[in-house]
Amino acid sequence: MEKKDIFSQVSHLEEQLGQIYVDFGNLKAQLTVLLEENQNLTLENRNLRKRIEDADHTDQSMTNRTTRKSGTISEPDVGEGYDNLARLYKEGFHICNLHYGSVRNDGDCLFCLSFLNKK
Ligand SMILES: [Zn+2]
Repeated sequence: MEKKDIFSQVSHLEEQLGQIYVDFGNLKAQLTVLLEENQNLTLENRNLRKRIEDADHTDQSMTNRTTRKSGTISEPDVGEGYDNLARLYKEGFHICNLHYGSVRNDGDCLFCLSFLNKK
């Protein structure tokens, strides 16, 4: 093999290594984004599951209340629902119609706050 050929091969390899390094950096950045998103979705999922559970319990207790009062339909417990939403907001999630259930990344949300203040 000619010396010139070896040199050009090494240069070529060096170029490829540089590209691999760049690709690796990009992949790492993407992985970071995905991990963050995964974490947010896990939290969101947990909160939504909790809400479904709470809603089920509320339904049951309402049914019990209704049965106890022998047929009269009692008012739903508005205060309890409000507390749940306020807690959810405090834990860092949107409770507004626009972004309901998603993570609040940018601090306070005006829509959420106006929703909380309305009640
Ligand atoms: Zn919001």
